[in-house]
Amino acid sequence: MEGFDLNRLIRESVSKLQPYSSARDEYVSDGSEMIFLDANENPFDNGVNRYPDPYQRSLKSLLAEQKGVSENQILLGNGSDEVLDLIYRVFCEPNKDNIITLPPTYGMYKVLAGINAVENKEVLLTADFEPNVDEILKFIDANSKLLFICSPNNPTGNSFKKDRIEKLLKSFNGLVVIDEAYIDFSKDESWLSQLNNYPNLILTQTLSKAYGLAGIRLGICYASEEIISVLNKIKPPYNVNQLTQQRALQRVLNQDLVNQEVKQILEERTELIKALDSLEFVSELYPTDANFVLAKVDDANKRYQQLLEKQVVVRNRSTQPLCESTLRFTVGTPEENKKLIAILKELN
Ligand SMILES: *Cc1c(COP(=O)(O)O)cnc(C)c1O
Repeated sequence: MEGFDLNRLIRESVSKLQPYSSARDEYVSDGSEMIFLDANENPFDNGVNRYPDPYQRSLKSLLAEQKGVSENQILLGNGSDEVLDLIYRVFCEPNKDNIITLPPTYGMYKVLAGINAVENKEVLLTADFEPNVDEILKFIDANSKLLFICSPNNPTGNSFKKDRIEKLLKSFNGLVVIDEAYIDFSKDESWLSQLNNYPNLILTQTLSKAYGLAGIRLGICYASEEIISVLNKIKPPYNVNQLTQQRALQRVLNQDLVNQEVKQILEERTELIKALDSLEFVSELYPTDANFVLAKVDDANKRYQQLLEKQVVVRNRSTQPLCESTLRFTVGTPEENKKLIAILKELN
């Protein structure tokens, strides 16, 4: 992209910052037997008595190899939520800058804007849940730093059309953050292959959904080396703990199992869609490219309560714009799905 100037987007306080240098920054083991007396740790080995690697080198090296990027194009965080917060704090000057989101979408973008005192400009998706490109471009001003694109989108489930995202990437001089939390369920290709073509592209992924590791909190950010280096500057030194690094590594190494589970979830999704489609009180099912289905029903509050009485918890998304009277169903195990479908068929 022509005329893109990353330095213009970085907050002055961050540009000037001299980052904290941790003990593990100053000296990294080369694998030989060393005596570490530099970090005031308890020396007795229990598996986790040492500080973790602040740059998560083993995990990054595996991800870099699998995804075909450089290790310096990866930042890891305590869930995508930490990664997103770091992005705000590097680029958005409180009470001055703004970000653009496209509701109905993931709620954290707005919450993070509030926490960081950054204005959230909202441009509704079109009726078929696609970005309204012309309207978005009209909304952008000199203080617009970030544009959040969630694809596949939560809570609607669809992936946005490629040419719309491309137009936004080409037209916006700030940073385009594409949240790919659900990409492993999608038919569409990740934007990762385009990383080197767009200096303004930031991609976030997570191990919380397809990888089945919501409990360990591991979020991933892919971007240019320049962007990653400035994010590294402000991240807490030991933001990804050692147990998380170990479990993530095991799981990413076991890609076959992940793929097998994703395949099963997608098969179950087909069954769920079939069942929902046959129900009298479901008036619309929205196309999904994720591990959930958004359904328009006759009375979302009533159906939500009825399911709750049967010990099934779904998400009522009715308060979201364009989502009046909708429920979002996550795809469960085959047994859970069977129970859900049986319960749905009994409701009246
Ligand atoms: C679930 C979800 C995430 C994941 O957040 P983590 O903090 O990594 O668990 C991110 N973005 C969207 C759109 C999600 O739905």
